[in-house]
Amino acid sequence: MSDVKNVVIVGSGPAGHTAAIYSARANLSPFMFEGYVMGGSAGGQLTTTTEVENYPGFPEGVEGPELMQLFRKQSERFGTEMVQEDVISADFSQRPFVLKSENREVKAHSVIISTGATAKRMGVPSEEKMWNNGMSACAVCDGALPMFRNQPLMVIGGGDTAVEEATYLAKFGSVVYLVHRRDELRASKIMQERALKHPKLEILWDTVLEDAVGEDYVTGASLKNIKTEEARQVDVAGIFYAIGHTPNTSIFNGQLDLDDAGYIKLKLGTQETNIEGVFAAGDVHDHKYRQAITAAGTGCAASLEAERWLAEQGLTE
Ligand code: NDP
Repeated sequence: MSDVKNVVIVGSGPAGHTAAIYSARANLSPFMFEGYVMGGSAGGQLTTTTEVENYPGFPEGVEGPELMQLFRKQSERFGTEMVQEDVISADFSQRPFVLKSENREVKAHSVIISTGATAKRMGVPSEEKMWNNGMSACAVCDGALPMFRNQPLMVIGGGDTAVEEATYLAKFGSVVYLVHRRDELRASKIMQERALKHPKLEILWDTVLEDAVGEDYVTGASLKNIKTEEARQVDVAGIFYAIGHTPNTSIFNGQLDLDDAGYIKLKLGTQETNIEGVFAAGDVHDHKYRQAITAAGTGCAASLEAERWLAEQGLTE
């Protein structure tokens, strides 16, 4: 038997595991680098969230880590070989491709990259303690939880995500403060108008978050106006970061076409990267939707494309 894998999947969030399930069921015997430290942890961003209420098929909701365990079990059931290791280098200049972790070197006919993106954090002093206890980087994931209903909430950031998340949170919260470090939003004009007109949205200009306030759960936020240096405290039950994401693509830099923000560029209407046989799925290329279900969808598409490509190349029996 050849020691070259048909498909190597890098990353184990919803995109990676969906790609694994489809590839395994297509008899491609996929190999997965689940990741370990890079990108947070194996299982991706859902492992750091609490309840997921918007993944279809779970009408009562499901805990993020549990959902990822189920994904993993399904990949395993169909024979995906998995190692909890980070890929530290990839060489797409030769065929078969070569991927290396600290412990091994794996050769691959095709690769599906699903390393995801990491939400940026500010690193305020009580952030670690308050994370998932009122602090989150995903309003769409966590905003509808009972703890935030009819409470004052806060979003940090001034881009499209911040406005979109603040508008979303305004459906649940009593008031939503949008805290932005400048006196002008970065968000597109239409989103700006929406924010400025919204009756439940209050923009706090030139303001930065100094820390979260609270014992076990967030009860407020310490803020500072950077022009006047004035410090103030505002009562809120939730603080949501929307200060951007960093795609986990540093190891592919120089080999794959990336956009200015580092996301993998795909050929229009496909999951194909600029290198034939290398595909991408999930948040590593998608900064628009960033949902578990859309990541799973593109993981499926990437696997189907890889399967067809391998067959066309005569690389699988
Ligand atoms: P952006 O990079 O556009 O915006 C990040 C915001 O966070 C900026 O306002 C920035 O401030 C602020 N920020 C960054 N770091 C800090 C920090 N340390 N402290 C305080 N504030 C900080 O990210 P988005 O996620 O908003 O958007 C990413 C891309 O996705 C964009 O291209 C956007 O257009 C797109 N998008 C499109 C949507 C749509 O079309 N519906 C929805 C969501 C996103 P400053 O402005 O001062 O730099």
